[in-house]
Amino acid sequence: MSTLDYNSVKDLKHYRNFGIIAHVDAGKTTTTERILYYTGRKHKMGEVHEGAATMDFMEQEQKRGITIQSAATTAFWKTKTDELYRFNIIDTPGHVDFTAEVERSLRVLDGAVVVFDGKMGVEPQTMKVWLQAQKYMVPRMCFINKLDGIGADFYKSYGTIINQLSKTAAPIQLPIGRENDFDGIIDLVGMRAHMYLDAKGEIIDETDIPADMLDKAVEWRNKLIEAVSDSNDEIAEKYLNGEEIGGVELKAAIRAATLELKMFPVIAGAALANRGVQLLLDAVCDYLPSPVEKKHLFLNPETEETEVLMGRVGGLNTDTDTADYRELAENAPFSALVFKISNDPHVGTLSFFRVYSGKVETGTYIYNSSSDTKERVGRIVMLHANDREDVSNVKAGDIAAIVGLKNTKTGHTLCEEKNPIILESINFPEPVVSFAIEPKTKSDQDKLGMALGKLANEDPTFRVRTDEETGQTIIAGMGELHLDVKMELLRSEFGVDVSVGAPQVAYRETILAIGEHREVLKKQTGGAGQFADISFILEPMEAGKGYEFSDEIKGGSIPREYIPSIDKGIQEALTAGPLGGYPVVDIKARITDGSYHAVDSNTDTFKMCAHYGFKEAMRQCKPVLLEPIMKVSVIVPEEYVGSVTGYLSSKRGIPKGMEQAGMMKQITAEVPLAELFGYVGDLRNITSGTAIPNMDFGFYAQVPGGIQAQVLGEKK
Ligand code: GDP
Repeated sequence: MSTLDYNSVKDLKHYRNFGIIAHVDAGKTTTTERILYYTGRKHKMGEVHEGAATMDFMEQEQKRGITIQSAATTAFWKTKTDELYRFNIIDTPGHVDFTAEVERSLRVLDGAVVVFDGKMGVEPQTMKVWLQAQKYMVPRMCFINKLDGIGADFYKSYGTIINQLSKTAAPIQLPIGRENDFDGIIDLVGMRAHMYLDAKGEIIDETDIPADMLDKAVEWRNKLIEAVSDSNDEIAEKYLNGEEIGGVELKAAIRAATLELKMFPVIAGAALANRGVQLLLDAVCDYLPSPVEKKHLFLNPETEETEVLMGRVGGLNTDTDTADYRELAENAPFSALVFKISNDPHVGTLSFFRVYSGKVETGTYIYNSSSDTKERVGRIVMLHANDREDVSNVKAGDIAAIVGLKNTKTGHTLCEEKNPIILESINFPEPVVSFAIEPKTKSDQDKLGMALGKLANEDPTFRVRTDEETGQTIIAGMGELHLDVKMELLRSEFGVDVSVGAPQVAYRETILAIGEHREVLKKQTGGAGQFADISFILEPMEAGKGYEFSDEIKGGSIPREYIPSIDKGIQEALTAGPLGGYPVVDIKARITDGSYHAVDSNTDTFKMCAHYGFKEAMRQCKPVLLEPIMKVSVIVPEEYVGSVTGYLSSKRGIPKGMEQAGMMKQITAEVPLAELFGYVGDLRNITSGTAIPNMDFGFYAQVPGGIQAQVLGEKK
């Protein structure tokens, strides 16, 4: 394999950009590790418990045993028919608090292998990630892992998939033997058996199906054909007429149904025991889409309608302000999406990107259409788990990293300046929880700012700011665990120790009424004087509109050059509202009049005047607090529905519905985040651990009067 390089696979049809997704502990890391071993890129197996797993290169992750960071790894695989495929394996995190991490991976991968623990079957996070993958139209297959383990049961686990995830999942393999005796796999498509003869899983004997399994294999092959028949009339007809359906024909039909998300092939294995991984890789080639076969959702900015695209992606042409498309081909104009920034201690900043169209070469300049800046492509690297390979160019379908980009963040589009496009970006929710942190020593203090800056750069849902009144450093993120992990990173990666305050809700402030205000700044005591005079109107805007500034001055009562300073002064004031110092949103400032002094006015006086004036004016416009409302969903067995709905209403929750979810009920509600600290634990207690909780940020809503007074009282 060592003679292979990134150019060995030319045909996009032989690319597989896929991710491995799972509930924590189902075996994602081990499976990935084995994939890297068998694809020949890694020569020594590292097991998780030895702390040598390749994808989990962050010390942090190994301590927690969960994968937090997404990395992309390139590998090659030759199928049994000697066709060479190129894989880009995108690592996805498994924890519910990292929705943004999961979603950003789902955005750039074309297919997924969902890993299940063969004893547990579907687990809470599998359910959640399954739904997310559905949202991004990601075709996927199910890998029932750990079948060598005590109590593992392929058929029972498959039952949970059918009941909780999809009725159209169907095994294309069956295990031979179970627990300690699991040593073979039946391929139901080709009707052959693969017997593992050594511990490393490298000696595989392909044989006839053992006689005692033949009936079972025929029975399950028929079930498979029935599943395919649901979406394939030709196969359905043949099956009804009792005609033979050959392996090649069946494979093609399964592939077509899987690409359409009408079917989910189920396979068997035990990654740790080296069983089933090679067959898994063959299945990735056989059933998951190449880049040109993946469907992409595109919200057309002109029509505001969602389009389903294949073989191309959509975006906004920033020259014409119209919808634009890029063919997923090398000869199209270059476009790429950055889906991950990480800091490598040896190389510097790595911006992981997926190329959708065209080609980019080192030594050239590219255009970041999202930040409207040009960036030089000094160095492009492909990551092979532990080592990296410098490459001179990358093209449509590739995933790689550029070293040292300066103005590029996660979600940004890179393209050609003469063909500018902003690809539909990844949506990152705003942080909803914050902590105050304090460095423990002087040396911690010195390093803190730099370390936090780097972390914030890597993760768009992690923010850092300084509280204006207390001078404290505030970090904000998507949940308690999210921030917990950042603190651990501060310690392990940057050697910074901090103490952490209680979690705080990310309140915001806005106004309910229109108000007019005139602010005059006048100081003429000794030396140079200061003068500025601004009249303006503040208006509430629709939720989500943020901030707008409008210059409506007639006749030049304030000179042009001072106007941007007024805007700046207001923007400064927006960072801390008059009620509790929370950020101010959904407000429009219209500057209507003013005056100036030929000597004592300058940009600074206007900025200061706007800042004070805005705060003063806001107080007169019925300022209120807004709080984040979470969309909560809980999946529980029927008998707990009453206690869970009762619990949610006691938390100011508004019920939004109840649906059947497999054998269980899914309750949805909108609940203020402020009421949700400790909610996962509470639910566990009231449902004897059966509840599958989930929450995502929903929207901001006004805090009820009594509670607002309480929140502001506590703040003081
Ligand atoms: P992740 O959290 O999904 O990445 O799961 P890991 O790969 O870290 O695996 C979790 C635990 O399950 C580890 O102790 C693994 O050694 C173990 N494990 C993973 N795959 C298998 C398997 O096929 N069989 C058995 N018996 N254990 C496994």
